[in-house]
Amino acid sequence: MSDTKTSGKIEKSEAEWRKDLTPMQYAVLREKATERPFSGEYEHEQQPGTYICAGCGQTLFASDAKFDSGCGWPSFTQPAVEGHVDEERDISHGMIRTEVLCSKCNGHLGHVFEDGPGPTGLRYCINSAALKLQPK
Ligand SMILES: [Zn+2]
Repeated sequence: MSDTKTSGKIEKSEAEWRKDLTPMQYAVLREKATERPFSGEYEHEQQPGTYICAGCGQTLFASDAKFDSGCGWPSFTQPAVEGHVDEERDISHGMIRTEVLCSKCNGHLGHVFEDGPGPTGLRYCINSAALKLQPK
């Protein structure tokens, strides 16, 4: 069976994830933690490139879609590839939000809000710890 680009979920035990990720990456991707605002390494990153999932390497966001939202986390107007980012309703912490997950490893990335700039009007608010930048 051949592996296509979006099929084939990555499944690892929590122990394997713990071994493969840094403690911060593990907390965000696997335990849905949110890094402190203004603390992440990519918030002010302006280098052109592709942001891939820190858990599995799947392409998630392009630097072209990154904008400075001032919210304290890297923000994007849209995913780089449709289908690489899953969205789920999240009613934790007394708020109704839309959670954003990597479609391949099911890692938690952040949330999407409807107050972004045009043309999508969306703001994907993503934890730096969930991303890895591959400079162009
Ligand atoms: Zn992933």
